[in-house]
Parts: sequence; C-alpha cells; structure tokens
Amino acid sequence: MAPKVWLIGAGPGAADLITVRGMRLLQEADCVLYDALVQPEMLTYCPQAELIDVGKRCDLASTQQAFINKMLVDAARKHSRVVRLKGGDPLLFGRAQEELRALNAAGIAYEIVPGITAALAASADAGVSLTSRGLARNVLFATARVGHGEDPSDWVRPVLAADTSVLYMGVKQAAEVAAALLAGGMHADTPLLIVENASLPSKREWPLTLAELPQAANWQLQGPAILLIGEVYRAKLALAATPQAKLA
Ligand code: SAH
Repeated sequence: MAPKVWLIGAGPGAADLITVRGMRLLQEADCVLYDALVQPEMLTYCPQAELIDVGKRCDLASTQQAFINKMLVDAARKHSRVVRLKGGDPLLFGRAQEELRALNAAGIAYEIVPGITAALAASADAGVSLTSRGLARNVLFATARVGHGEDPSDWVRPVLAADTSVLYMGVKQAAEVAAALLAGGMHADTPLLIVENASLPSKREWPLTLAELPQAANWQLQGPAILLIGEVYRAKLALAATPQAKLA
C-alpha cells in the first residue's frame, strides 16, 4: 500500500475534543508524530502505533523544523499509515505548510483533518461570543510572535481594525504587545481576556484592560495561554476582581 500521511488537528487539549474522524485515524495509524501541545491522554487512542514526540515549541529554530519535516518523510517511507498530530487546528500557526511542502517534494500523499482551534475553545470556556450583533462583526486570528530570521510582521494594524482579535502566543510578550497596541492608538481601557489551558480541567481566565496587560508577562502560567481582545469582553471585566487577585 502506498504510504499516506494524515495531518490531524488534536483540538485544544481535552481528549474528547478531537473530531471523530481524527480519532478513528489515530486508532488505525502505524506511526504518530505529535507536538508538545498534544495531551498524553489522546495518545491512548493509538496504543498500536509507534509514537514519536517531535516536541515542537513555537520558538523552534527553522533547522529544527527541517528536522521534523525529515522525520515525517522518513516515517512515511517506513510505515503505510502515518499521523502527524498537531495541537488545535493544523492549519493555524502550526508550520503545516512547511511539512506539506516536504511531503509534496517526497511525492507522499496526505490528507488534512481539521481541529478545534484554541480561540474557539477559549471562547467556549469563557462563554463569550467572538461575534455579537452590533458590536463585533469580524474576528482576527493573529500572532505577535516573529520567528527567527523573519521580518517583524505588522500585526498591530489588523488588530486595531478588527472588532475582536485573538492573539496566539502573545501572553509571554504581554508588555511588548501592550506597548505596541497603545502606541498604535488602542484605548487603554480596551477589555481583554486571557485564557490559559482552554478546554482542560486546569483552565483559568483573567479579564483585564489593555493598561493592565503588561502585568501578565510576570504571571506564572502553567500551560498555553491565549489573548482575546475586544468590546465583547467588557461584560467580563465588570464582573472581575483585579487580575492579580484572580491569579492568587
Ligand atoms: N494550531 C494551534 C495553535 C498553535 S500555536 C491551534 O489551532 O490552536 C500555540 C498557541 O496556541 C499557544 O501559544 C497559545 O496561544 C494557543 N493555545 C493552544 N492551546 C491552547 C489552550 N488549550 N489554551 C489556551 N491557548 C492555547
């Protein structure tokens, strides 16, 4: 049988938030290469498979990405059913294009199975709609992170223009993110919401204003966190204690 690779979205963390198709393909896989964000519980779906931890972190150097691409191609040459399991949706901030390019170059067939991205899981946990009639008619998925050797991308302008923005990988650089948005003219009173470990029992959330955002850089977060920005979060802000009090 000609080898095939399935690029599957694992979803945000909870083992039952993968799609039925994704789970079935895991159960049939010969080999599974998985990311750092994939929860161990999900790997119980594929006890038959050879498991390869490719431990991908967002600050990975491109040479390390090249190594993952090679491992993927090598796995497909050895096994007929290979799964590449990626956190959230594979096509959002997951370097999927580079892996697909490597598979194309090697002449290996692939299929993509979408997953629930962190923005959607965080919104579900928070109970706040990303869109809202009369208040938010568009949503931006963005990141302020710039990879090694890349030009700094102009992420500020689209965030200023969007009704609701979701910033992936932005919490560690909270001070820089806040400074850039304030310099761009965003109001210091703009409501934000940080959600950590969305979909997991350990999930936590903190409503705060843009003026308070720099404090978040010092928080001891345990897991991945996402930053949601927009007027739809104002009601949360009104309910919240101070962010510091919530974290304690
Ligand atoms: N492809 C993934 C995103 C990978 S980038 C997706 O679609 O969700 C990694 C970033 O995603 C993290 O830095 C964080 O900002 C966000 N993230 C992933 N899982 C998360 C979770 N369970 N809770 C909060 N943020 C999460």
